Amino acid sequence: MVSLVLNGHFDYMQNINEIEELVKLIARLPGLGSKSAKRIVLKLINNRDQLLKPMANSLTQVYKNVSRCQSCGSLKSNAIGCNNCENVTDKFNKICVVENIADQWSIENSSIYKGYFHILGGTISSSSGQRKEDLLINSLVERVKKDNIEEVIIATSATVEGQTTAYYIQDSLKPTNVKVSRLAQGLPVGGEIESLDDGTLFSAFKNRTGIENNSD
Ligand SMILES: [Zn+2]
Repeated sequence: MVSLVLNGHFDYMQNINEIEELVKLIARLPGLGSKSAKRIVLKLINNRDQLLKPMANSLTQVYKNVSRCQSCGSLKSNAIGCNNCENVTDKFNKICVVENIADQWSIENSSIYKGYFHILGGTISSSSGQRKEDLLINSLVERVKKDNIEEVIIATSATVEGQTTAYYIQDSLKPTNVKVSRLAQGLPVGGEIESLDDGTLFSAFKNRTGIENNSD
């Protein structure tokens, strides 16, 4: 089998169930189609000891030992706890709420914000079936109270879902009386935080505006 695969004819790979299954899974990863998935599988099989085995072990370890922190939404190692909210030495009075970890990385890289992060893991959307509980908004309210937070900066995308989510968060935070602000100027309509350049992100942060607590 190996020699057939080695010569690079993908057709030979297609009758092997295990390989087909792996190709299908890899093709579901971002940015990959079935052609690149086949190339990846071929590379793995041709490097059984250097790649395939360590990768299988590593996937198992990640599956067993890495999970989502139920307090801040970041990823944490079950062994050492969460580096995003538990194992932090600096004390901050701000929390920045983002949709995903990639957004957090963008904001961290731009060095315009020093404070805690809260990762929603998505937005409120009627189509995606995202459950509100999964966005950890209750836990955000708890963090605000527990850590004496003075400002919550909502950095959700300028999409309909991002806006809806921001309003929902704002509403949930009302009883705490914390100052709530949103990134404003600079965010292009339909723009996702992750894809913004530093300049745009900087101006969006700098020009963030307070949100009025309207009674309607
Ligand atoms: Zn955490």
